[in-house]
Amino acid sequence: MFRRCLVCGGAFRPNESLEHFPLGTRVAYDPSRGRLWAVCRRCRRWSLAPLEERWEALEELEEVVRGRARVLSSTENISLLRWGELEIVRVGQANLAEQAWWRYGAELVRRRKNYKALAAAGAIGTGAAIWGGLVTGGVGLITAWILWDKVPGRVPDAARWMRFGSDAWRGRVRCSRCGYLFRRVSFRRREHLILHPFDDVSPAGLVYRCPSCRDHRQGGLHLKGHEATATSKRVLAYHNFQGASETVISGATRLIQEAGSPSDLSRILLKDGKRLGDLGRIGGIALEIASSEASEQRLLEMELAELEAHWRSEEELAAIIDGELTPTPLLDSLRRKVLGEG
Ligand SMILES: [Zn+2]
Ligand SMILES: [Zn+2]
Repeated sequence: MFRRCLVCGGAFRPNESLEHFPLGTRVAYDPSRGRLWAVCRRCRRWSLAPLEERWEALEELEEVVRGRARVLSSTENISLLRWGELEIVRVGQANLAEQAWWRYGAELVRRRKNYKALAAAGAIGTGAAIWGGLVTGGVGLITAWILWDKVPGRVPDAARWMRFGSDAWRGRVRCSRCGYLFRRVSFRRREHLILHPFDDVSPAGLVYRCPSCRDHRQGGLHLKGHEATATSKRVLAYHNFQGASETVISGATRLIQEAGSPSDLSRILLKDGKRLGDLGRIGGIALEIASSEASEQRLLEMELAELEAHWRSEEELAAIIDGELTPTPLLDSLRRKVLGEG
């Protein structure tokens, strides 16, 4: 078995996940044509595994893909899956249920665990938790002092404050109706933010009612473009700091699926100038998933298009190589096709 990329010579990092193909952390295979490749992270080219070493690995991969791996994204021709350290490219239609929520849902589940741990620490007593952290080296003296001084209430609140600060937005913008000068929008006032439906991957705009003239149409603070995207991401992450259970997450993703797409969901949730505070728990989670989903999905689609192009050229090569080594009817006909013989 080779240990290095057959194209650039770069060494494959061994994986511990596949018993029959411990090469590299990205593998590609085609169960119907019987191909197996190790994908080089350096030159991105695919190295075809020797025939006699493929079959058990192919069986093993099919089993992993059917039972344990998560589908990140797929086209008609290929799917990209993840299983632990492994990224698996599977060629061919698979009819695998794409668990889209998993991409972002995992992050929300993790947050919930953290939050619970923090809340448990809080139950012991904020002071004990903070000074305990200080003793065990979890927090520095300055951090402990700030926590103690600023937010003596609850540990999770303190942790959130440490992570996000207190302002969702800062700047200098005047209300175009009354001239009021906006300098900051604090997270505490986030529920009053009005989000515009997504234009592609993030809210097309964010509006904050003017505290002086009470207007949010002509007057008020209007954020657009990058500023709106960055602010809404921060606000949603802050808003959903507690994370969510798998039940809530699957409810939220069902909303997205039923709406059709992340931006469709945002149009439904945010119509008529809804405020963040009006969305409810699942709505807020769905919105955060939708905004992350849409941008991640776009990256994945680009990656998948690139993978598919690689697969096409590597498959041509593999057909030739395999045809020369073992003249089986299937491989022979493929070879003829590649060589333009019929
Ligand atoms: Zn390489
Ligand atoms: Zn105003």
